[in-house]
Amino acid sequence: MPSSAAKMHSSSPATKALRDQVLKYARERMELDPAPLDGPQTLKYLQEHASGTISETGLGGTKALKVFEEVLAPACISTDHPGYLSFIPTAPTEAATLFDLVVSATSVYGGSWLEGSGAVFAENEVLAWLAKEVGLPKSSGGVFVQGGSLGNLSALVTARHTAIQERKKNKKKMPKRWSIIASKESHSSLKAAARVMDIDVITADVDAEGRLRGKAVLAAAKKAGKGLFAVVATAGTTNFGIVDRLDEVGKAAKELGVWYHIDGAYGLAGILDQNSKKLFKGSKYADSFIVDPHKWLFTPFDCCALVYRNPKLASAAHTQHGEYLDTLTDGGEFNPSDYAYNLTRRARGLPLWFSLATYGVAAYRKAVADNINVAHKIAEVIRKREDLKLVREPELSIVVFEKKGWQLADYEAWSDRILKQGLGFVTPSSHLGKPNARFAIVNPRTDVKLLTQIIDSMDQK
Ligand SMILES: *Cc1c(COP(=O)(O)O)cnc(C)c1O
Repeated sequence: MPSSAAKMHSSSPATKALRDQVLKYARERMELDPAPLDGPQTLKYLQEHASGTISETGLGGTKALKVFEEVLAPACISTDHPGYLSFIPTAPTEAATLFDLVVSATSVYGGSWLEGSGAVFAENEVLAWLAKEVGLPKSSGGVFVQGGSLGNLSALVTARHTAIQERKKNKKKMPKRWSIIASKESHSSLKAAARVMDIDVITADVDAEGRLRGKAVLAAAKKAGKGLFAVVATAGTTNFGIVDRLDEVGKAAKELGVWYHIDGAYGLAGILDQNSKKLFKGSKYADSFIVDPHKWLFTPFDCCALVYRNPKLASAAHTQHGEYLDTLTDGGEFNPSDYAYNLTRRARGLPLWFSLATYGVAAYRKAVADNINVAHKIAEVIRKREDLKLVREPELSIVVFEKKGWQLADYEAWSDRILKQGLGFVTPSSHLGKPNARFAIVNPRTDVKLLTQIIDSMDQK
């Protein structure tokens, strides 16, 4: 082993050549404008074309890269393609993608101040900026975690831990079951978090526009009983991009004396658009919030900003103690790992930091506003077409519409066809059991012309 281990880390001519090859590949991928959309392959195809890469001797970098370039990469949809409109796409800036390479190349450890103070400082600058935009005080803080699901879970764990501590302090009885309130339109990750935590989700009704309101929270609280410890509002639902009434929900949470969490994984980025800012009125009441920069803040996967009004409550809930960790946890310094369910962590906030530092916040405001404008313009096009119907008026950058007379099979056939053509990736969605088409627009390269082309393609065979 020593000889091959040394080979893996040395700067031999072969390693230098590989470095050039891989960086060249990365550069060429980044220079494609856009990269081909590509698409999934069958397991059988991949077994035939890419099996046997793991062996005692290895293929050598050149061959392994060739397998990736020719077989594996084309079997992955380009999520940053302007025609990728399903789920929530991603559209990292050039600076953010480049810096993601640097985060790897420098082996920065992002879990503790001792090891990564410089990176932690820069990440915290970004979190402080986000907190300010949302209206939280300077004393707030948090951590970049892998995704919104982990962000929501970590926030709710903190909320429950705080509720337990308060009940202990006040010598109150513990409830039989713990519960949270969230709306019908809230994200599936809340139910997933509830399963992990063994708590109940009390579902609150939404109004005609799909928004959670204060009254519905208070009504749901009656069903929740004594174990209610948090209310979750969604700032931009994943299906429609609808923002709950954050002010009313926040006030209701205060009235109930429970934690107020805002799930803004997709939509909270919309607060950067001056015209949309009013939708987020009341965000300042949050005890915690999340926003996924890998969704709508132009950052590579995977990146979720989790911010707490009082970060001490989070470290009390999450800090891991162990003999080998005491030197980190006893110092009183800011260790990002202490603020979520994680320990070892990539400094995944650094690409966003570098990108913000490079382009400035105003460029972000404009990019988000442009996406919203494109969404509203294509909604106008849809409104004018007799064969199409908007399911709801768009609020942020998600547009959902039906084609009259179409069944699920029609949407599926169309979706498959345009993916094969490399035009777009629009998987069917549904509302109240009725299938529809959904555009989630977070890519500055997605324009009205392309979206119109995609709509027109519904009539082609
Ligand atoms: C996407 C999303 C999540 C989950 O985030 P991941 O990063 O996919 O884990 C949670 N809440 C909302 C509202 C979302 O849109």
